Amino acid sequence: MSLSIPPEPSNLYEVLEIPFGATTEEIKSSFRHLVKQFHPDNPITGSYSKFQNLYFAYQTLTGEGRKRYDEEFRKNYAREFVKRKLEEHPIVLPVSRVRFTTGILELAKRGLMRKGFRNKDRRKVTGIDYDLIIDLKESEIIRPVIAVIPLTVRIVCRDCMGSDPHCPACNGRGSYKGSRNLKVEFPKSALVQGKVFEFDLSKFRPDSFTHFKKKFLRVKLLIHKNIPLRAKSTV
Ligand SMILES: [Zn+2]
Repeated sequence: MSLSIPPEPSNLYEVLEIPFGATTEEIKSSFRHLVKQFHPDNPITGSYSKFQNLYFAYQTLTGEGRKRYDEEFRKNYAREFVKRKLEEHPIVLPVSRVRFTTGILELAKRGLMRKGFRNKDRRKVTGIDYDLIIDLKESEIIRPVIAVIPLTVRIVCRDCMGSDPHCPACNGRGSYKGSRNLKVEFPKSALVQGKVFEFDLSKFRPDSFTHFKKKFLRVKLLIHKNIPLRAKSTV
């Protein structure tokens, strides 16, 4: 039989079930053990292709080919390692990638809005059932993504707990407007064109004094080949 065909898989160390850098003794010992199992003469566990792979790995790693193979292995491993590390590391999107969809003010300007207009009504009028859009580039969806979403909050006055009409800290208003950055991370697998996510904002409250204006925030992902220079707010 011929054993000159380069076999799959390419990781010869895996074939021999030994770590990279194993000694010749270890290679031989593992080969002897595995060859008993996979030799075609073995009627139960024998496998010609496995035997062939095994033999090729053994020959390469105990012969003159090992030096070259190890050099290639190291190079590939380093390349894979860097790639994998990069892919695990999330991209933090610039704030310009977060845009609020047609809001209450704009609807009001268009005469579509009255006070107390709710999301349900907005959906009915505009067909928009999300609060904001996150724009992503195609080249970014190979990594997890972190988006920082600025949200308006109402913060209860800590001096009077919102209950003293003569409180000097809040001028008796009980609370004041503030803003909080909501940091949300999307795993790679979630980065799907057009997907809408709903975040329960009560889980993001930094403390019991801070109240978000909404209970849920709906976020839609749009994936583009290129990001237009100035994303329009009309969607
Ligand atoms: Zn106060």
